[in-house]
Amino acid sequence: MKRILLLTTGGTIASVKTENGLAPGTSGEEILSYIPEAKKYCRMEVCQIFSLDSTNLQPEHWLKIAGKIREAYEKFDGFVITHGTDTMAYTAAALSYLIQNPEKPVILTGAQKPISAPITDARKNLLDSIRFAVKDGVRGVYIVFDGKAILGTRARKIRTKSYSAFDSINYPVAAFIDDRRILQYVEAEEEPVPVRFYDQIDPGVFLLKLIPGMEPDILRYIGSRYDAIIIESYGVGGIPFYDRRNFLEELARLTRDGKIVVIATQVMLEGSDAEVYEVGFKAVNEYNVLQAYDMTVEAAAVKLMWILGMTRDFARVRELFYRPVSHDIVSMEE
Ligand code: ASP
Repeated sequence: MKRILLLTTGGTIASVKTENGLAPGTSGEEILSYIPEAKKYCRMEVCQIFSLDSTNLQPEHWLKIAGKIREAYEKFDGFVITHGTDTMAYTAAALSYLIQNPEKPVILTGAQKPISAPITDARKNLLDSIRFAVKDGVRGVYIVFDGKAILGTRARKIRTKSYSAFDSINYPVAAFIDDRRILQYVEAEEEPVPVRFYDQIDPGVFLLKLIPGMEPDILRYIGSRYDAIIIESYGVGGIPFYDRRNFLEELARLTRDGKIVVIATQVMLEGSDAEVYEVGFKAVNEYNVLQAYDMTVEAAAVKLMWILGMTRDFARVRELFYRPVSHDIVSMEE
């Protein structure tokens, strides 16, 4: 029988009612006690790492989670992590960069209702995660939620309240999990290279969402505090340069100062293609600026943090940013 390590971090799944609203309060052992059926599928051990709402999870926590998996990697066949839904997509992206080419599954899950509630999605999500984790051939980082397995680099929280909280952005759902079977559509490739763990992350990444009327000089302040800036621009990648609100002048300044600038889109689906319009063409052709293409903003932000942990040299950053990791980027210029 396979051995699975359950790592618990908090989130709604572990929350209880308090005077001040829901807060994590259910221990890892208690969470396990709600799913006695798990014994049918595997031998489980549990380790409570944190008891935090995921709003309070930071890059340092991602490093701790990856470190725990590294420590226990040889002893277990797979890892299931319970986590709050609000920042789960960021943690899933982070684990995808910190644990590359794992031969084993690393599954994040959580719930929209506490596991102790009479009506809850928590038990199903946790049992689905365990069933997916013990399935032969499953490897890599995924979020399992509401019957879907989504690659860690492709997940986004798209609903605040309903059970169907996550979707796979610009990439197919890897597997659908129902009560009777698991339909896996995206098989993990045979990885000839062994797992590689990373233990550096530099959180100096800022995400700026453009709105009409924004003054470009905000970029000067951001550049004084952060080393990389993702601009959530319009459509396929438009940056305003007309009249008195000229962002291109600020892009010139930032890139001259060695800052990494990535143009992404605030549109959820289909990604950027900044050369299509003059408003994006100038930005990507006149300056050392990257674009996110079909990457999620969550993955792009965390990938930059992982890259900044190794280098700030633009050519190297560019190479690493565009090099696919766990299917995070598919469409680039030909
Ligand atoms: N605020 C909670 C969290 O992210 C929400 C949830 O888990 O669904 O920890």
